Amino acid sequence: HHLVSVTDLRFSYPDGTPALDGVTFTLHHGESVGLVGGNGAGKSTLLLHLAGVLRATSGAVRVGDWPVTPGTLREVRRSLGLVFQDPDDQLFMPTVEDDVAFGPRQLGLPEPEVEARVVDALGRVGAAHLRRRPPHRLSGGEKRAAAIAAVLAMGPSVLVLDEPSSNLDPAARRALIGQLRAFEHTKIVASHDLDLVLDVCRRVLVLSGGRVIADGPSDELLADD
Ligand code: ADP
Ligand code: ADP
Repeated sequence: HHLVSVTDLRFSYPDGTPALDGVTFTLHHGESVGLVGGNGAGKSTLLLHLAGVLRATSGAVRVGDWPVTPGTLREVRRSLGLVFQDPDDQLFMPTVEDDVAFGPRQLGLPEPEVEARVVDALGRVGAAHLRRRPPHRLSGGEKRAAAIAAVLAMGPSVLVLDEPSSNLDPAARRALIGQLRAFEHTKIVASHDLDLVLDVCRRVLVLSGGRVIADGPSDELLADD
């Protein structure tokens, strides 16, 4: 039984640009996979299908027990959390704690459980001290941490990250890699940062022209020779 399965997924944007040309893969519980490929390979488009933001032209995506369709988005959001490439797309409340609490409150959880999730999620990304700060005043690394915490607080089984190390300084990048390694979640990490992918993901999918052109152990596929 797979936690994520993508079957012959095809998608063209409304202007006719083909972006995914038959993508197929499956993920087991606990597996972490890197998604690599040049600009325009289809990485972001694929992540947006996993989260149900875009609707496939043909093919299927399943997450846990659910096919990803407009009718299952509530269930899919509980199972799969997408951290956008730009944290500013995700942080919109007056304080970090409001942002991290937003998802659990939407789930209708009682306030003590919301509070517990906020504390836990901020702790996992080393951001407990940022709790009462306004997100728009944070550094790039701090914003990234807050955005990841907001997704963790939903309690997803699958964590999906789009270019998580973009715009981070070396110290913030190292902290991020340590945290990602510590998360027990099944992970899908799209990145140009091949060293991050090697550190965080045992398996890698190489995308080109909207197709998976390689799928295997990251230390073999990303060996720098
Ligand atoms: P990657 O994330 O690997 O850089 P994308 O998924 O962003 O790749 O892009 C895949 C293809 O879809 C590219 O040809 C890109 O130009 C095109 N594309 C991406 N977003 C749009 C859009 N909103 N409208 C039209 N074409 C798009
Ligand atoms: P340390 O474990 O060295 O104390 P911290 O967790 O305090 O590291 O983080 C060090 C730097 O990295 C800080 O600027 C912090 O905001 C940033 N940072 C922490 N977590 C993340 C994250 N998940 N993503 C990006 N930057 C982060």
